[in-house]
Amino acid sequence: MMNPIYLDYAATTPMDPDVAQKMAACLTLEGNFANPASRSHRYGWMAEEAVESARAQMAKIINADVREIVWTSGATEANNLAIKGVAQQHSTKGKHIITSVIEHKAVLDPCQYLQEQGFEVTYLAPQSDGTVSAQQVKAALRPDTILVSLMYVNNELGSINPVQEIGELCRDNDVLFHVDAAQAVGKISVDVQAHNIDLLSVSGHKFYGPKGIGILYVKRGVKIAAQIHGGGHERGMRSGTLATHQIVGLGEAAHMAQQLLPQEEARLRALREQLWTGLQDIEGVTLNGSAQNSVPGILNISFTGVDGESLLLSLADLAVSSGSACNSATMAPSYVLKAIGLNDELAHASIRFSMGRFSTIEELNQAVGSVNTAVKRLRGMAA
Ligand SMILES: *Cc1c(COP(=O)(O)O)cnc(C)c1O
Repeated sequence: MMNPIYLDYAATTPMDPDVAQKMAACLTLEGNFANPASRSHRYGWMAEEAVESARAQMAKIINADVREIVWTSGATEANNLAIKGVAQQHSTKGKHIITSVIEHKAVLDPCQYLQEQGFEVTYLAPQSDGTVSAQQVKAALRPDTILVSLMYVNNELGSINPVQEIGELCRDNDVLFHVDAAQAVGKISVDVQAHNIDLLSVSGHKFYGPKGIGILYVKRGVKIAAQIHGGGHERGMRSGTLATHQIVGLGEAAHMAQQLLPQEEARLRALREQLWTGLQDIEGVTLNGSAQNSVPGILNISFTGVDGESLLLSLADLAVSSGSACNSATMAPSYVLKAIGLNDELAHASIRFSMGRFSTIEELNQAVGSVNTAVKRLRGMAA
């Protein structure tokens, strides 16, 4: 049997072969395997040099300084470090945090944890296009607000928040601004300086780097409390022996993404358009989020009057995500889709297609054909 067509790049990307090759050269005795913190021999110096070179590559793609990059195990840890780190460090100034109801769980869960610790959290409801406006943030600001945490790009919808405007608002009001950019970096241009960002989370495996590595950008002068202690690595913000191979892989992924971004953005936009054009003639099809204000690689669509589970089952030749999330034992409708106004049934009957570097026109043609056939068949059965 043929492998299904991979259209789930927003869940994770395969590594680029170049990234894998660079990583493989950092593992064995013949390679760059040493502890970058070893100061007493050549092996250590070489590993440190590789880590610092990757740090420069990572800093460049978000227009940061190398001293502002803190290696983490991914965006989940970066979000935890940013949110809990700010809360603990700045609690004497205030205990109020602003975020949104459609954030990733890696933001929502730390916020909920802080509520149990006596912090107050305002959860903004998104507009129907899946974004939060600067006006909404402004209306929620209080004298005791210490942090605004909002995602750059929503992982289910692809919608892009007005980050620059919100950043400006936060700066004017002396409130720290954290951005979960796991779905943005490598996909659209992210500039921490121009966009007034204080803290930014990045994940390697969302742009053809390895899993288990990411960064938190911490603007110079911003103080956060460490969450992992032991050895004082990363200027005391995140202890632990640096994983040279992971870091080198992330650096290479960042370098490649930056080089390829203009052409890939245009190519993926065309693929998304091809998919949407091929599907929008089906009756009762709606696009979730925004047709225009979206990253190029994500298209989320609902099919009215179709059973979500049956739809997914009939699309066995496509590896896609549905509007249902496995919540413990049961399938729960996506909280993101519900927050932008979909009912449970329609949320279940929704599919997120996400395309990436290795997606082709032929694959999208086949996807269009499969969905058309499946929906027609299911509608025929329902009638
Ligand atoms: C994938 C993702 C995360 C989690 O990143 P990990 O590196 O897997 O921990 C956080 N936020 C968003 C928006 C994501 O898409």
